[in-house]
Amino acid sequence: MTVKAYGAHAGDQPLESMDIERRPVGPHDVQIDIAYCGVCHSDLHQVRAEWAGTLFPCVPGHEIVGRVAAVGAHVTGFAQGDLVGVGCIVDSCKHCDDCGVGLENYCDGMIGTYNFPTPDAPGWTLGGYSQQIVVHERYALRIRHPESQLAAVAPLLCAGITTYSPLRHWNAGPGKKVGIVGIGGLGHMGIKLAHAMGAHVVAFTTSESKRADALALGADEVVVSRNVEEMEAHARSFDLIVNTVAAPHDLDAFLVLLKRDATLTLVGAPATPHPSPEVFNLIMKRRSLAGSMIGGIAETQEMLDFCAEHGIVADIELIRADEINEAYERMLAGDVKYRFVIDNATLAA
Ligand code: NAP
Ligand code: ZN
Repeated sequence: MTVKAYGAHAGDQPLESMDIERRPVGPHDVQIDIAYCGVCHSDLHQVRAEWAGTLFPCVPGHEIVGRVAAVGAHVTGFAQGDLVGVGCIVDSCKHCDDCGVGLENYCDGMIGTYNFPTPDAPGWTLGGYSQQIVVHERYALRIRHPESQLAAVAPLLCAGITTYSPLRHWNAGPGKKVGIVGIGGLGHMGIKLAHAMGAHVVAFTTSESKRADALALGADEVVVSRNVEEMEAHARSFDLIVNTVAAPHDLDAFLVLLKRDATLTLVGAPATPHPSPEVFNLIMKRRSLAGSMIGGIAETQEMLDFCAEHGIVADIELIRADEINEAYERMLAGDVKYRFVIDNATLAA
């Protein structure tokens, strides 16, 4: 079936309207009418070929929400009309150790929602800036928020799970001091989630103008990371810092804020590496520098349910599909509070 989408034909070209094909609904598939799709900084990195290996045409988008339009004969978990989401994963090998424990995000055969190999035309996956998507039911998520919040739920599918997973893995909760670096799409979710988990949350931003917002989002304290004295006041005090920054920067400034045995986890994925941190800052207090990639399907469902229970959604700005190129420029300028979401109904225009 042919559907309308928004994508690019080359890394130096703007995104434009295009027609793409979706596969017929297989026995284990759900076909989803996409209502909204969030705009992740990864979409920009990929479609502008900042990371290696972008295949064109490229249709980004992995924060997908909508309604089930049809289900295959063997689908048991979903029915037509259900509110569902699709995040960054649309397939995996289903039998390795990682898939076996619900960590499909670390499966060597993980198929991402866009730019990964697939037998479907054109030979690689095409994402959520499109009217419909067809996925195996194992990779569809149930949405329990009220439908009126659907657009603001979309960013949970990547920004939400990418911050939720490291916060859970490194035990954010009562009695823990947790830092969130970079108050963008991921960072603003990190603040809300760490706060809801009961941690003492400190937001780090380069933007003086985000100070008040960060407190409103749930931070207990805010540090403008360019101010050396403000940074020094937190030396050796954190249990965990989750760093979402999308550009290379000095990691030592954050490592020295960790207590003994504490961890700085990188989730931001800049196109070029950060300068290597000072080894002594790791040795001295047995500190860890770690990374984390999105989250598995079961944990993504857990995160969505946690958010529904705690009334958590993203702070969004809804845009038309033809505003996407401008939205990318604004995202680069840090001018979004805090996630753009495409109204996919505008793809039909
Ligand atoms: P975003 O909305 O653009 O937010 C990034 C934030 O980083 C900005 O709002 C800004 O916050 C800060 N920042 C930007 N440039 C900076 C610089 N030069 N120095 C210091 N701070 C800077 O992006 P996002 O969608 O949250 O994504 C963030 C990164 O995570 C991207 O690289 C993305 O590809 C990656 N990502 C990784 C995963 C994963 O699985 N690990 C999943 C999704 C996304 P302040 O204004 O507060 O400083
Ligand atoms: Zn993303």
